[in-house]
Amino acid sequence: MRLLLIHTGGTLMMRGGDPTPLEPDVYTRDLVAELPVLRKLAEIETRILYNLDSADIQPHHWVELARVVHESLAHYDGIVVVHGTDTMAYTASALAFLLPGLDRPVILTGAQKPLVDVRTDARTNLVDACHLATMAIPEVGIAFDSELLRGCRATKLDAWGMKAFGTPSCPPLAELGLGVHLAPHVFSPRPPVTFDPRLEPNVIAVRTFPGLDPRLLQGALAAGVRGLLIEAFGAGNVPRLENSLVPVIEAARAMDVPVVIVSQSPRGAVDLTRYQGGVAAARAGAIGAGDMTSEAALTKLMIALGRAEGSDRVRAVREAFATSWAGEMG
Ligand code: ASP
Repeated sequence: MRLLLIHTGGTLMMRGGDPTPLEPDVYTRDLVAELPVLRKLAEIETRILYNLDSADIQPHHWVELARVVHESLAHYDGIVVVHGTDTMAYTASALAFLLPGLDRPVILTGAQKPLVDVRTDARTNLVDACHLATMAIPEVGIAFDSELLRGCRATKLDAWGMKAFGTPSCPPLAELGLGVHLAPHVFSPRPPVTFDPRLEPNVIAVRTFPGLDPRLLQGALAAGVRGLLIEAFGAGNVPRLENSLVPVIEAARAMDVPVVIVSQSPRGAVDLTRYQGGVAAARAGAIGAGDMTSEAALTKLMIALGRAEGSDRVRAVREAFATSWAGEMG
């Protein structure tokens, strides 16, 4: 078994903490040298792509990482990506959409505490990620706290406890105890497809709240935003009386700017037929994103927009959100 371990940064390899802030180590150490037990699982090559706090990861990093993974896949049995937890769910979603034809595992992992700490979760997470990357799991997954989660369903739920991630609308792909239990919904291998790096990063995500002034969204449209993600209430409800968002959704459609609606509630799906606020948003042109996470919806919006260049963008994005690309919606 041969694995490629790509380092992008995150707490796992940071230094400092209590009382100094954690920051990426000035030098990057060889992970396999730090944790030689990994060699018992597979022959592992490491590659340092970035050494960033994941708060500094940008969409161009996702594309470069996806390209490296795409070009490396044929030479390894699986790939492990070490990444900070803060934006790991975004990167995992982007990778899942940019690499739709996987026939082997791409497993992201990280840690809540650095590898050098005594009470660290880094060792277990790394060992689990490498072990899972040797198995028949052709998915972009997140290995964390004895679970493997579908990457494009994941969200960071905890900034303190060791179970940093959850997939509220999708059971884990695997659970690790004395052995590894693989769930039946793990995908079968899919034939590789040509790598398409197109992505439009010029989008904005806004969480509705009582009092949100729709003029701020009009301002974003005027500034040239190409796509709008609204994190609406409950089943996808937006205000339609005072501070109504309906006119700005209509204005977006007139400018061929897609408006996608996700729910602020981690569990449950957007249903734009359930309340008048949702019905009005749908009539104005909004696109419901079902039970997708904000992270998945945002990255899918960027990628769908990137691929829609020149054509009818609202229609292209509506079509993209009508089908599941990588198991991101149920
Ligand atoms: N700030 C860190 C990061 O996302 C947090 C972590 O890795 O857990 O890079």
